[in-house]
Amino acid sequence: MAKVEIERVMCISCGNCIDNCPEIFEYGDDGLSTLKDGEIVGDNVEKELENPGCAKEAEESCPVSIIHVYE
Ligand code: SF4
Repeated sequence: MAKVEIERVMCISCGNCIDNCPEIFEYGDDGLSTLKDGEIVGDNVEKELENPGCAKEAEESCPVSIIHVYE
């Protein structure tokens, strides 16, 4: 199992994560990136994944390094 997390409050809405991994990432109603069916934990959103897949590419593409993938 893997887990992906976004520190949402620091998102600059560049869209890189959504372009690289639309299966997992989307814009929230507030215009910041979020995770489809993710769990809100404080200022963050988290989601368990069977395998990280394209979330790794999203992590690498984030210009402010607020996406974290744990394996
Ligand atoms: S790549 Fe980072 S800064 Fe850009 S939309 Fe996604 S989480 Fe926000």
